[in-house]
Amino acid sequence: MFLVNCDNKGCGKSTKAMIDLDDGEAYCGECDRPIKNITSFAKSQLKGFKQVRKKSQTFSFKCAQCGTDARPIITNNHLACPRCKSPSTNISKPFEILVRQAIESDKEGDKDI
Ligand SMILES: [Zn+2]
Ligand SMILES: [Zn+2]
Repeated sequence: MFLVNCDNKGCGKSTKAMIDLDDGEAYCGECDRPIKNITSFAKSQLKGFKQVRKKSQTFSFKCAQCGTDARPIITNNHLACPRCKSPSTNISKPFEILVRQAIESDKEGDKDI
């Protein structure tokens, strides 16, 4: 585990920070605010320790078939339920774009690690 000193007011803890792969900021595990006073070396250490901010809940979606509340997966270039694999047909187009972006950026993050 890689600890970082949080520089946010009212926190200041030595924390297990998490790197956000979307905005490249390191977030404090205690107060969940971005830590400004952190080197790019420390950020790469966070990736090395797989302390990556999980946002799988952000784009979760309730499956109409089985009721699973989870982020969809991409199969045959369509969004589908990760559990029953049925196509997620009732996702609105703008939401689908966001979900796809989230899935793609997760993949890139994995490569980086
Ligand atoms: Zn903090
Ligand atoms: Zn399902």
